Amino acid sequence: MLHRGTNAVVVDPGDAAPVIAHLDREGLELCAILTTHHHNDHVGGNRALLARWPVPVYGPARETIPGRTHALAEGDAITVPGIGVELSVLDIPGHTAGHIAYVARNADAPLVFCGDTLFAVGCGRLFEGTPPQMLASLCKLSALPGPTRVYCGHEYTLANLRFARAVEPANVLLEKRQAREQEKRNRAEPTLPSTIGEERATNPFLRADEPAVRAAAEQHAGRALSDRVAVFAEIRAWKNSF
Ligand SMILES: [Zn+2]
Repeated sequence: MLHRGTNAVVVDPGDAAPVIAHLDREGLELCAILTTHHHNDHVGGNRALLARWPVPVYGPARETIPGRTHALAEGDAITVPGIGVELSVLDIPGHTAGHIAYVARNADAPLVFCGDTLFAVGCGRLFEGTPPQMLASLCKLSALPGPTRVYCGHEYTLANLRFARAVEPANVLLEKRQAREQEKRNRAEPTLPSTIGEERATNPFLRADEPAVRAAAEQHAGRALSDRVAVFAEIRAWKNSF
């Protein structure tokens, strides 16, 4: 959730109840809903929120989104009602076919809402897309400035770290990150947001070009892999059964 003064915007409200409780507790009024993709755990709260706050709903043009008023695709830019933040839209298919991301490029507080495409130290499952599509989408996100804060759809960081360390056991930055994120969870804090810079250094799904990641993928596959797409596809399949 983003807010300015008493105006608030929520991203991917899968469930309305905790959003309403938070808005009421903080004395905030909802001004808009932003949606990254059509899965119910990202849109399930739209209708109940709209019943109380009939606000604009932004969402991907190529998916069916409850209550959507503004259909978006790459190249679009919006100024979020109520809070004035400017966001640009990227198409990032792979997890779903029409998945989009919202990017704030202002230098003092760059951020991205990337739904279930890029996770902290991981990436989403390929429900509606192919490995080349997903890798291209992850490369777009990886190309954002390093300080860009990554707001993803789920807190999967510790489980993702266990897998990442199986892929890259010699990555010292990964070892340090695991200690840092574990401490946050021990204090019952979220690990999120991360940053694009951290993800480039530790997320195996952004590191298919790294020799160590390729070697681990080839060892898991039991054969040589032809290119970075094959490396990415192998570690994604490996993670599915990890
Ligand atoms: Zn999803």
